[in-house]
Amino acid sequence: MAIIVQKFGGTSLADAEKIRRAAERVIKAVKSGFSVVVVASARGRQTDELIADALELNPNPPRREMDQLLSTGEQQSVSLFAMALDAAGYDAISFTGGQIQMMTDSVHTKARIKSIGAERIQKQLDEGKIVLVAGFQGIDENGNVTTLGRGGSDTTAVALAAALRTQECEIYTDVDGIHTTDPRIFKNAAKMEQVSFDEMLEMASLGAGVMHPRAIEFGKKYGIKIHVRSSIKEEDGTIITHEVPQMEDIVVSGATVQKNMAKIDLVNVDNKPGNAAKIFASLAKARVVVNDIMQTEVSGEKANLSFLIGISDLTAAKDAIEQIKSEINCEGIFIRDDIAEISVVGVGMRTHYGVAERMFGALAKAKVNIDSITTSEIRISCVVNKNQADEALRVVSTAFELDKPAEQRAKS
Ligand code: ASP
Ligand code: MG
Repeated sequence: MAIIVQKFGGTSLADAEKIRRAAERVIKAVKSGFSVVVVASARGRQTDELIADALELNPNPPRREMDQLLSTGEQQSVSLFAMALDAAGYDAISFTGGQIQMMTDSVHTKARIKSIGAERIQKQLDEGKIVLVAGFQGIDENGNVTTLGRGGSDTTAVALAAALRTQECEIYTDVDGIHTTDPRIFKNAAKMEQVSFDEMLEMASLGAGVMHPRAIEFGKKYGIKIHVRSSIKEEDGTIITHEVPQMEDIVVSGATVQKNMAKIDLVNVDNKPGNAAKIFASLAKARVVVNDIMQTEVSGEKANLSFLIGISDLTAAKDAIEQIKSEINCEGIFIRDDIAEISVVGVGMRTHYGVAERMFGALAKAKVNIDSITTSEIRISCVVNKNQADEALRVVSTAFELDKPAEQRAKS
């Protein structure tokens, strides 16, 4: 029988009624002939509440204990879900990550999946059961519980689809799909019918917040079609899939804003081999994830170097830079935590010209100053003042007609 993986987010499981409704979606798939594997997140705001509980007792809780604690949210979801299915007359069995050999590395709170033992799940499916797996968690080689980082249940779901060799993975959520941009800021943002893995990866890591970026990476690697859809409405949502030629007809697929960033400028660093490596080795040692690195030569002897980091890594990054500051002969460190990054994303950028002009023009017209610009093959990003971020996203979204369905937008 064909297997389908269905993941339910926390908001779709917030109370008994919602769990019942989610169970109905599962039963519907069973009735249409699928063997169903359900992945569930912690209910409602439970993960946030558990974090708050932890911080009340210890401002710097041991990460291992944090994982031990946070994993309980998902464990509650799957057992309650199994009970709801049982009440409806369906055979169901729930597992924690550890129970199905969801093996990860030992980086607590940010673990990465290494392998999955699909046998136990397969055996239960073969016996006609609905299998429920607690999302977001795994176990390391020493038997310690790990978690995959906030939003990690998406990754559990897509990784399970890969391990079970199915191409179907549905992500049920409280929105009806993925929008071209954040509808809370740009009210009329259109729902995307489909989007490529590469676009979604850019958008997810740029803070679109809809999907865990690692989930998209798994999807791309193993060719899993991911369907993000509403847990309430029946209509199709957004399919994340491999790129098809028509996708290039669309100039820009989406726009994002990222507000939780900080920018670090290192001024007049000695311009000699090995210095950039030293800076980023020091940051890597402090586990700081760095984005959008820019370096420009000032003179033969000196260079300026800037990069973006998540604001939560700012203290760690400052310390890391202080440690090597004299070694690289850095004359000044400037830090901005009042910035936001606005980006437009689209595989169509490879074949359309004038995209940069359209974006910068829209920002200029709205009198938004651009601090710095970075690009990739399918993305243009501008750092702007945080207090202008929403306005910037709106004018850029308007310029690329992100309120219209893709096929109705101007082609150039
Ligand atoms: N419960 C976890 C979180 O809130 C994982 C997830 O929802 O995917 O981040
Ligand atoms: Mg999520």
